[in-house]
Amino acid sequence: MKERLQQLQEDSLAALHSAASIKELQTVKVRILGKKGSLTDIMKGMRDLAPDERPVIGSLVNTLKDECEKVFTERLTQLEEDEISVRLVRETIDVTLPGRRTVTGSLHPVTLVTDEIVDIFSRLGFSVEEGPEIEKDFYNFEALNIPRDHPARDMQDTFYINDDLVLRTHTSPVQIRTMLKQPPPVRIIAPGTVYRRDSDLTHSPMFHQIEGFLVDELVTFGDLKGVLTHFLNEYFGADLQVRFRPSFFPFTEPSAEVDIACVICGGKGCRVCGGTGWLEILGCGMIDPAVFDAVNYDTHKYSGFAFGMGLERIAMLKYGVNDLRLFFENDIRFLKQFS
Ligand SMILES: [Zn+2]
Repeated sequence: MKERLQQLQEDSLAALHSAASIKELQTVKVRILGKKGSLTDIMKGMRDLAPDERPVIGSLVNTLKDECEKVFTERLTQLEEDEISVRLVRETIDVTLPGRRTVTGSLHPVTLVTDEIVDIFSRLGFSVEEGPEIEKDFYNFEALNIPRDHPARDMQDTFYINDDLVLRTHTSPVQIRTMLKQPPPVRIIAPGTVYRRDSDLTHSPMFHQIEGFLVDELVTFGDLKGVLTHFLNEYFGADLQVRFRPSFFPFTEPSAEVDIACVICGGKGCRVCGGTGWLEILGCGMIDPAVFDAVNYDTHKYSGFAFGMGLERIAMLKYGVNDLRLFFENDIRFLKQFS
């Protein structure tokens, strides 16, 4: 019996010491001290021993039991500490690692130009109006003094949806829509998308315009020149040279085109301005009385001016972009330069 106990002591202590996890340690403990454990087994067999042997064996069993409990507790504490250190290492956050940056977008250059122009005109008391991109022939042509047989229709390569509907070729229909719903005085700026059948380095089938017009009593060409010169000086710089050239548009009379001194060469002449030193920037004029007739404005009482310009062209000049198509390709390397 003594030998059996000695063997059990060796095996048990070795097993407890070598348990690699808390789970394994508990299994070993059950195997020794549990209800069906090997030590429990020996204790049950003590009643078969001779009376004089019982106290000796009993004392040995108790010692072994205490020893096992002690080693179990020590080993458990050890394993728990190990587990904590492992978790500490595994869950460490390296605060010196660089953070993941959130990628922020930027406004499209055409949007930037639109916002800036709207801002300048807002300060002059103009408010923003918008109109539909699919437009009735009446608003896009007829009411703007461009009847069906008018040669000016050839000036604009129109996308027709049917006989009566077009993709608007300019933002001018917003003039008609606004004047039909509102009596003078009006001061409106109307940015928007327009469409023409045209595509090359400097033309796109879809592009953006901004239209502006002002109607009131006693509005003269002097007001037109003053407002547009002020705008161009605000936008391109106070010392910018501006000139007005006579031109033709069906919806204005008289009409003019406005040039600015070339922003690339400063007026000396270069490839961009074709050696002239001037860049055409917008079209304008006094609103034709025929347009006022179409919207029932009193032509004896009121006069007004209107102007329009291509926003991509302004953006190209402002940012020195030489290919219009860059604005529509949405290449992120191009766009992020404007953030
Ligand atoms: Zn130039």
